[in-house]
Amino acid sequence: MAAIDNLPPLRDVIATHGIAARKSLGQNFLLDLNLTAKIARMAGDLSGSDILEVGPGPGGLTRGLLAEGARKVLAIEKDDRCMSALAEIEAAYPGRLQVINADALDINPTQYLNAPIKVAANLPYNVGTELLVRWLTPKNWPPFWDSLTLMFQREVAQRIVAQPGSKAYGRLAILSQWRSDPKIVLDLPPEAFTPAPKVSSAVVHIKALPQARSEAEAEILNKVVAAGFNQRRKMLRSALKGLAPDIEDRLLSAGIKPTERAEQVPLEGFCALARTFKG
Ligand code: SAM
Repeated sequence: MAAIDNLPPLRDVIATHGIAARKSLGQNFLLDLNLTAKIARMAGDLSGSDILEVGPGPGGLTRGLLAEGARKVLAIEKDDRCMSALAEIEAAYPGRLQVINADALDINPTQYLNAPIKVAANLPYNVGTELLVRWLTPKNWPPFWDSLTLMFQREVAQRIVAQPGSKAYGRLAILSQWRSDPKIVLDLPPEAFTPAPKVSSAVVHIKALPQARSEAEAEILNKVVAAGFNQRRKMLRSALKGLAPDIEDRLLSAGIKPTERAEQVPLEGFCALARTFKG
């Protein structure tokens, strides 16, 4: 297959710059540039968008995003061993790549990017869900991003798209589906990565909706859902007892039977319950 750019193959980049994968940083690299270009295309038409990439590592996905026409990529990488490799990509795409050597949890990306903004990343598993929850729960909506195209462990991807009544249904499903539309768009076996992780992975594409499917305050919804699923085998009247002394009345007014378990309650039910706590 044709090369996507004139830069060296990723195996050579890793050897030249001494970027042996570290488990502590969640490093499982994608070395097939045709695959990273394919993942970049799953983020949609990139030509008119700025892209936030968390954890570029040796730059496989970064190169895919740039080759697919991203207007600008802001890449935040914690591992300083990757900086010289990323500098070579910066030089090959003048003015289109900005690299920040930092922990992504400490950076406000909106200071560096212009709308429309898409997020695309092969996330480090140790901070992946924390970043996702942060991106999904800003106080105001729509958020700074139009879409998130993210690689997760397959089990996490399934929790994002899960429906009520299933074991995977919980806080991630509700927060992801409340104001967005998530879909699994690609499954990848462990061998797609170097080194190969123990489990399969999946790319999830999450599109921000213009407004929530059901009204609620992010902070309250998050709290109610966390409490409900923390003790997911308990009936809601006891799982949520700590939230308010009159929780049974609140559940009933939200149209939820107090004897139900969190797993059975659809998104609209949790939003209605969250509204009973409003101001
Ligand atoms: N994007 C590359 C690829 O697809 O081959 C690397 C993906 S690897 C799964 C995750 C990357 O995130 C690693 O390069 C790791 O160093 C970086 N990383 C880990 N924790 C981070 C953090 N808190 N902030 C920014 N980058 C982080």
